[in-house]
Amino acid sequence: MNAEVIVTGDEIVTGQILDTNSQWLSIRLQLLGIRVLYHTAVGDELVSIADVVRIALERADVIITTGGLGPTQDDLTREAVAEAIGKPLREDPATIKHLQALFARRNRPFTEAHRKQALFPEGSRPIPNPRGTAPGIFVEVPRPNKAPAYIFCLPGVPAEMREMWQTTVERMILDISGASTVIVHRTINTFGRPESEVEALVKDLLERGKNPRVGINASEGTIILRIAAEGQSEAECHALLEPVVEQIYKTLGDLIFGEGEDGLQHAVIGLLRKHGKRLCVAEWGTSGLIGSWLGEVPDRLPYFVGGWIIGGVEGLASALSLPPDVAAQQDLRQSRLVEVLAARCRDAFQADFGLAVGPFPQDSPHPDAPGQLVVALAGPDGTYTRGIGVSGHPAIIKPLCAKHALNFVRQHLLRLG
Ligand code: ATP
Repeated sequence: MNAEVIVTGDEIVTGQILDTNSQWLSIRLQLLGIRVLYHTAVGDELVSIADVVRIALERADVIITTGGLGPTQDDLTREAVAEAIGKPLREDPATIKHLQALFARRNRPFTEAHRKQALFPEGSRPIPNPRGTAPGIFVEVPRPNKAPAYIFCLPGVPAEMREMWQTTVERMILDISGASTVIVHRTINTFGRPESEVEALVKDLLERGKNPRVGINASEGTIILRIAAEGQSEAECHALLEPVVEQIYKTLGDLIFGEGEDGLQHAVIGLLRKHGKRLCVAEWGTSGLIGSWLGEVPDRLPYFVGGWIIGGVEGLASALSLPPDVAAQQDLRQSRLVEVLAARCRDAFQADFGLAVGPFPQDSPHPDAPGQLVVALAGPDGTYTRGIGVSGHPAIIKPLCAKHALNFVRQHLLRLG
């Protein structure tokens, strides 16, 4: 089977927001063995949306749309799908009841506009939306001289769309495609080597047509391996997954920092907990991103103590108790200054480790110097420093540097045993 993903919204075709839904869905469809042949983006216009759905019906077996299911006038997906398949819209009494109860629970008035969300093309059925209001739409569309096509309409809000995929849509697509009854996923996250190198290391696992299927993709320096096993039972899937996961761990070793939704911050907190150590951070280039990430880890206390954000030379002068004129004369990427910052921060917070991140090279008074970001980790047995080459698109430099700095801490903690 093959698929087309259609995203709707003026915000997308005018470039105001980035379409992440197509990427997310395509990765999952591929893991189900469904080839994604087309991504289509279309503005909020009834005729255009109906057109792209009609075209998709001719060239794809599974069509997933996202967006345009809300109550406002520019939410037109339900009307467009009805038009494309030549069916009238009908109100679904069960959905009306569900929406009325939902609005009553939320203490919000249920208006005429919201009734629209209970309209479904004749012959279709709602897809439950556990967190949002708008249910999705599922419809099987007969095609002359061909197997039927299947349309799934999901909301645009990524969190809602993802949950609906996980709770309902994935299962439905598996049933439709006649695949085995169960699918089990694992996601393994690595950091420290580029995608091409990680790919080369696990090349044999990535070959098409295998069970489990292994896919690879990169997100701001994190290289992610997604493994999906299909079988008759969960136990069978786990039995298929285990040797592959084991091989990946054996091959990639310490490049792996976690699984699923884990970020490097979770790995660092986990290691701090293991060793009973506390960390603080002083951030210039990353301007608080590392602290923010660490602050989101649920069991961060008492291991993440706090941090400083350095805005510029004056901030550095205060943090280091330097007279501003002395600070202004320094090459602020000098490893020594970043090391002192790490040590000062460690002292101030009375932590076991102080991590300091220097400024981005372009923010330094010496922009012609080599583009290296300096990170330093002050600990009980001295201070360690690393220069990180910060090439790459400006949009990802900050998270990339924050990840490099966290990975530097992680590697140090791993060496503690
Ligand atoms: P709602 O009930 O919120 O109106 P909806 O199904 O109508 O849901 P849209 O109004 O199209 O969804 O989108 C809601 C928001 O979801 C957008 O403002 C945007 O922030 C986000 N969004 C929509 N489509 C995408 C997409 N393809 N990729 C990433 N984010 C998206």
